[in-house]
Amino acid sequence: MTNASSYSPIHIIGGGLAGSEAAWQIASADVPVILHEMRGVRPTEAHRTDGLAELVCSNSFRSDDATSNAVGVIHAEMRLAGSLIMACADRSQVPAGGALAVDREGFSNAVTQAIHDHPLITVVREEVSALPPRDWDLAIVATGPLTSPDLAAAIQNETGEDSLAFFDAIAPIVHRDSIDMDICWYQSRYDKVGPGGTGKDYINCPLDEAQYNAFIDALIAGDTVGFHEWEGTPYFDGCLPIEIMAARGRETLRHGPMKPMGLTNAHNPAVKPYAVVQLRQDNALGTLYNMVGFQTKLKYGAQAEIFRMIPGLQNAEFARLGGLHRNTYIQSPLLLDRSLTLKSRPGLRFAGQITGCEGYVESASIGLLAGRFAAAERKGEAVLLPPATTALGSLLGHITGGHLVSDEEPGKRSFQPMNINFGLFPELEPGAIVKPEGVKRFRGKEKAQAKRRLIAERALTDCAAWLGRT
Ligand SMILES: Cc1cc2nc3c(=O)[nH]c(=O)nc-3n(C[C@H](O)[C@H](O)[C@H](O)COP(=O)(O)OP(=O)(O)OC[C@H]3O[C@@H](n4cnc5c(N)ncnc54)[C@H](O)[C@@H]3O)c2cc1C
Repeated sequence: MTNASSYSPIHIIGGGLAGSEAAWQIASADVPVILHEMRGVRPTEAHRTDGLAELVCSNSFRSDDATSNAVGVIHAEMRLAGSLIMACADRSQVPAGGALAVDREGFSNAVTQAIHDHPLITVVREEVSALPPRDWDLAIVATGPLTSPDLAAAIQNETGEDSLAFFDAIAPIVHRDSIDMDICWYQSRYDKVGPGGTGKDYINCPLDEAQYNAFIDALIAGDTVGFHEWEGTPYFDGCLPIEIMAARGRETLRHGPMKPMGLTNAHNPAVKPYAVVQLRQDNALGTLYNMVGFQTKLKYGAQAEIFRMIPGLQNAEFARLGGLHRNTYIQSPLLLDRSLTLKSRPGLRFAGQITGCEGYVESASIGLLAGRFAAAERKGEAVLLPPATTALGSLLGHITGGHLVSDEEPGKRSFQPMNINFGLFPELEPGAIVKPEGVKRFRGKEKAQAKRRLIAERALTDCAAWLGRT
């Protein structure tokens, strides 16, 4: 490294999607970086190479449509912010319709080359097995879902026993406006108000006996995803996949997450539901609801089909589907401040999937933000957060506070990894969606499309302003 900068370096642990992007953003701000990556010395269970930013599974960065898809919007914002990950993805693109898919080797090689060629970045191949020493005054932990065990233990030691999860036990998350409230109703079990509640905190979907039995049959017959050998079988208390519960006995779910006790169907109080599926508000905006206790290993196609059998969810749009796999991530909404700094350790930031975002693009985007924030701090400049109306700002907001921590189940970790989706963006101003002239039919689907387009336009305008590009 030819250090032509007068600033002292920022240390980054982990040279994956987030760490590489963070390094690039910091170095682009004229601040030197020391990037510590363990592969080359110590492998992970999923990576196959020593290359930086290796994609461990699919080669897709998902939709590149910046007019009606939230992933496309975050791509566009990252490009505006000079993202290395997006530049290398664009250069390594392979045909994939509306998606941005890449030649995985070409992509990782391009990132590795750019990082190695940057005069302000030094790559050190080593495992960092403890929290950064105090003399690394500014550091970013970007060690991903497969953080090495010693470092994970050190993080847990610093943040507390319950603050680190080692598996995703993800229940599906549904867009609120796709739930049929002519069938469902708001009510907390036994109308319990609880701290911070109203007694009407859950959305309830009623099933009669025939509907329940058909649902159980479908669950048992549904296609599931197998575990990788290295994942073991991570079933633990309170996290059993629903199809496993169903297979243990037809009544198991009716006495577990689907119990009807303490609930009265507001649309038909005289008839007691045989079983009930509850959905709990998942974000402060109230646009997303998660299906309580519905963690599952069913394949995505099977999930959508089977969950739409539930009365009230027949047209459900899923912000994300369920899953269960190895994933190390912290309780970011409690532990991190808005600039991704660990509240208990000023100067120490987290980035990437370990913060509780999910996916290549999201991880890189949080790396981009952590890098910009750390560089600003090093230079004594104001740390400017992206507006909440942008994709970057809405994902950051969700991770650092937008997610609601359950009051009713205080012992439970309810923060689950999240992809970028339109449910995380603030609503448009009332009256913003207007029927275009000459258009005859402007209802459900057309209106939803118009809404997405307006949210996307607002995001890109506000992102450009944030970056000083207007
Ligand atoms: C098996 C699996 C399959 C996945 N499939 C997909 C998919 O298809 N699509 C998708 O969008 N997302 C997928 N993901 C999620 C995806 O991996 C992450 O979203 C993304 O790679 C996370 O980026 P990151 O930079 O946070 O972590 P990573 O890209 O994993 O980078 C973390 C880096 O930190 C290094 N490291 C770990 N511990 C230490 C240490 N103590 N010291 C130094 N270095 C360390 C690792 O070697 C690694 O290079 C998958 C994840 C897993 C585990």
